[in-house]
Amino acid sequence: MSRVNTVLGPIPTKELGLVAVHEHIGYGMPGSELDTKWWKTPEERYEETVPKLRRFHEYGGGTFVDATGICNGRDVDYYRMLSAKTGVHIVASTGFVGGDTALPFFARASVDYLTEHFIHEITVGIGGTGGRAGVIKVGVSRGGRMTDLDKRIYRAAARAALATGAPVLTHLAIDAENAIAIFTAEGLPLDRVLFGHVDDGVNADRTRDTWIAEQGGRIGFDTFGYETELEDPPFWARPRQERLDHFLRLIRQGHLDRVLASADANCSPLGWPGVKGHTVNYIFEDLIPDLRAAGLDEATITTIFVDNPADFLTLQH
Ligand SMILES: [Zn+2]
Repeated sequence: MSRVNTVLGPIPTKELGLVAVHEHIGYGMPGSELDTKWWKTPEERYEETVPKLRRFHEYGGGTFVDATGICNGRDVDYYRMLSAKTGVHIVASTGFVGGDTALPFFARASVDYLTEHFIHEITVGIGGTGGRAGVIKVGVSRGGRMTDLDKRIYRAAARAALATGAPVLTHLAIDAENAIAIFTAEGLPLDRVLFGHVDDGVNADRTRDTWIAEQGGRIGFDTFGYETELEDPPFWARPRQERLDHFLRLIRQGHLDRVLASADANCSPLGWPGVKGHTVNYIFEDLIPDLRAAGLDEATITTIFVDNPADFLTLQH
């Protein structure tokens, strides 16, 4: 039976429902939690988070993929409690957002160590929580080129993906030539990789999205909602219509089976204020209505939010 690892245990793929494939319960830069001005009580985090997940569930959301990874605020015990409370399946990540957010202990680790660590978190569990990771997060450090550490993490992720059948999700799809060279050298089929953030306002112009799709990679339009129209837009914001047109162009070019979409929102940001007015529920409140208005039919919307993520998340054996 095909299945996916959630924080409460493996579930049959068909139970995923509609998937938000790149989101965060709470994301912060390593160490930001030590700055007392950002401290929140557990109750405050909970009160900020639960209504968003409840609304997601009411709208018809089934699964929330937490793309946070190690060192950026991942808290699997908390995710398990949130999932049990709200009925939303939560998929946790092993791996790192990028080499530049891996703390020194991991930054100094060998490829073999990282590989074993990722495999353990996917097959045995994340510490003693009982929850297993369902995806492997990797990413490109700030600067636009993969660093040596980024490359070690990508290589370890490819090996862990092959050993466990878990998929790989990237932070940024710039410098994709180097990423694809590593995945190919390791023998990982590119349909096991979701190249994320092809749509953000900083990197969209220098991301070779159609080339990645032609190589067989999956394409993540996963910063929907970070719009220049927001009251206080972040530096990676982009005009709403421009992003939507970009997404529709990929679909018209024949890449419907390669695209995934998400909002990359934080339910309760850690160590920074977050982006006001942006939540995972952008998917239901804005994005799906925009796609319908642009003429996409219900079958196409189901492909984007149900079938493609199901294919991607299913553990391969
Ligand atoms: Zn993210």
